[in-house]
Amino acid sequence: MARYAFLRGEFVPMEQAKIGISTHAFLYGTACFEGIRGYWSAKEEELFVFRLREHYQRLLDSCKIMRITPKYSLDELCDITIQVLAKCGDRTDVYIRPVYYKSSETIGVKLTGLEDDFLVFAVPFGEYLDISKGLRCRVSSWLHSEDNAIPTRAKINGVYINPALAKTEALDDGYDEAIFLSKSGHVAEGSAENFFMVRQGRLITPPVTTGLLEGITRNTVMELAEDLGIPVVERLIDRSELYLCDEAFLTGTGAQISPIVEVDHRPVGDGKIGPISAKLQQLYFQVVKGEVPRYRHWCTPVYKK
Ligand code: PMP
Repeated sequence: MARYAFLRGEFVPMEQAKIGISTHAFLYGTACFEGIRGYWSAKEEELFVFRLREHYQRLLDSCKIMRITPKYSLDELCDITIQVLAKCGDRTDVYIRPVYYKSSETIGVKLTGLEDDFLVFAVPFGEYLDISKGLRCRVSSWLHSEDNAIPTRAKINGVYINPALAKTEALDDGYDEAIFLSKSGHVAEGSAENFFMVRQGRLITPPVTTGLLEGITRNTVMELAEDLGIPVVERLIDRSELYLCDEAFLTGTGAQISPIVEVDHRPVGDGKIGPISAKLQQLYFQVVKGEVPRYRHWCTPVYKK
C-alpha cells in the first residue's frame, strides 16, 4: 500500500517527501517533534490515535520555545494527521512523527529570520522496548541535559544526542535502557521515557522541575493510578532508591509502560514484574484501544466507520 506524508503544505507519496541537504534543521537540529501512537482495534476495525490533541499542544509549546511560528492551528494539525493516516490506510499499530522545523536552506546558527515548515508521516510500529520480560537498566554516566542548557520540556530534535549517548552506552554494556540522573544527582528520566517507582504501595515520580519532558504517558499513568486508588507522589528520587524500591517502570508513547526488573545489577523488588506495574499496564492497553468508556475521548478514530 502507498504511504503518504505531509510536507510543504501538500500530501505527497513518502518517496517524494525529501528535504535539501542544507536545511537548517538538518545542519543544526533546529526542529521540534512529537511521537504519537495509533492503535489498531481489531474489535472495532478502527485505528485510534492516542491523545492526539495533547501531543499537538506540546508541539505548539515546543514551537514557542524554538521561535517557530506555527502556520497551522491545533485543529488543523490534528486534521492533517488524520488525513495522512486515512491515506496510508493501515490496519495495524502505527507511530506518527510530526516535525516543525527550520526549513531555510542556509548556514548560520540562530533561531530567528528563518522559514519554518511542518511535516508529518506515519509508519507501522510494534514494541519499542520489550515489555514482556522487564528491563535491565543502568544509571547513565552521561548527565541529563539541563533545562537552562537545552530546554528539556520541549521535544527538540538536537537534544536527542543526550539520550542517544546514554542509550548507546547502556546497550554497549549489555543493558536494555539507561536511567539519567540530573546534575543534582536525582533520578530524572529514561532515555526517551519518564520514570516511576513504587515504594510501600505509593507510586512515586520525579517532579517536572527535575528537567524532564512532561510526558503524556506520565500524565495518563498518574490519572489511571488515581482511578485504581493507588496514591501518586511527585518528589525527588535519590539514586539509592532505585536499588530499594519495590517496583519500577518507564513510561512513554514508544515505551508505553515498560517494567524495570534490575538496576545496576540489583533486582528491583524480587526481580519480577510487580503487581502495580502489571495492573497499570493492563489498564493502559485497554484505554489506548478505546475499550474504556471513561477515557474514550483520548482516542481519535481515523476511519470513523
Ligand atoms: N522523556 C523523553 C526524553 C522522551 O523523549 C519521551 C518520549 N516522548 C518521554 C519522556 C515520554 O513522553 P510521552 O509519554 O509524552 O511520549
